[in-house]
Amino acid sequence: MKSGHLAKRVLNVTASPTVSLPDKARELRSKGITVIDLSEGQPHFDTPAPIKEAAKAALDAGFVFYVQSAGLPELRNEIKAKLLRDNGIDVPISQIMATVGAKQAIFTAMLCTINEGDEVLIPDPYWGSHASMVEVIGGRPISVPMRYEKGFAVDIEKLEELVTSKTKMVVLSSPHNPTGMIAPKDDLEAIADICKKNEILVLADEIYEKLVYDGVRHYSIGSMSGMEDLTITVNGFSKSHSMTGWRLGYVVAPKDIMDKMLIVQQHSVTHPTSFVQKAGVVALRDCAKYVDEMVQYYKKARDYFVPELNRLNYLHCEMPQSTFYAFPKITRPTTSAVLCDMLLEKAKVFAVPGSGFGKYGEGYVRFVYAQPMDTLKETIESLKKVS
Ligand code: PLP
Repeated sequence: MKSGHLAKRVLNVTASPTVSLPDKARELRSKGITVIDLSEGQPHFDTPAPIKEAAKAALDAGFVFYVQSAGLPELRNEIKAKLLRDNGIDVPISQIMATVGAKQAIFTAMLCTINEGDEVLIPDPYWGSHASMVEVIGGRPISVPMRYEKGFAVDIEKLEELVTSKTKMVVLSSPHNPTGMIAPKDDLEAIADICKKNEILVLADEIYEKLVYDGVRHYSIGSMSGMEDLTITVNGFSKSHSMTGWRLGYVVAPKDIMDKMLIVQQHSVTHPTSFVQKAGVVALRDCAKYVDEMVQYYKKARDYFVPELNRLNYLHCEMPQSTFYAFPKITRPTTSAVLCDMLLEKAKVFAVPGSGFGKYGEGYVRFVYAQPMDTLKETIESLKKVS
């Protein structure tokens, strides 16, 4: 097949393992092959009933037309209240835009800020799409190591060393996919200081904000002094409200950046689906108790699953304090890809090789424990076959 028609910017982009592996699991299942899929980063719960009812009511009322391109004012007002209440971020709704999931928010934000050759610092291991989006846009993702021995904290000294005249942005994911770590306030303050000194933007991806355990607190770098003009904060409904398929997220950005992001949104997706936005209002306004219940369940699942992983003689996992990911170290001399192939072959378990999460991800494997307890028990029994 002729590849000459492809734009240079996509020639080196590779498939996301966190999307392609679940697709493979679905394909096997459709052929009647039983597999356990712990590779897909999504809640296993149905979306809370009031959210579904709100979408149905909007559809029944004929709410099926174009709406404001930045999102419904009632949704953006709910987001504004939420940002103030939960994150200490106080912005007018003109700096808030509803998006087609957090992914589109991140892509649009990068499109509006990163020039060809700009460097973007990304703590590594990382969620692959952060780096791939930078590459597609023409920037250069630069890995900043996170240290297993230090609870996967970002190596802040290294981050500062890696700053050059081309550094445009730091991408932060906290709570963090894939490690389940959450950045402490001191670390965020230290990163904020580096960014202020060097006038570097921060893209704060806070999509796992609600999934925290053991009384740890999530802090938003965008609320820190002097960071309001340097931070783009991204969040959404996928993980907190079990709404992955609905494709609804949002972004808050400094005014000059938001003005251009809105224009790019108008020329690309126009806005997220109108009746889904109505459901988003109810999610933010009325559904905290459902979120709490789901989070309590993830904690229970974590408390079962992680100690069981540690009983296997080939994995070791520190207790993650957030998200629904376990990212154990492989304690035998093999690569993550080889181990994951073995898990699939011998245990019929899909997990994502750490190598899919940047160069510092090698040597680890990612499991999603947002699964019914029976599935987790079955997984552990199957994983025992691999030892
Ligand atoms: N950001 C991170 C760090 C993620 O892990 C994911 C999904 O796995 C997303 C964003 C995507 O969120 P959304 O479904 O809102 O696009």
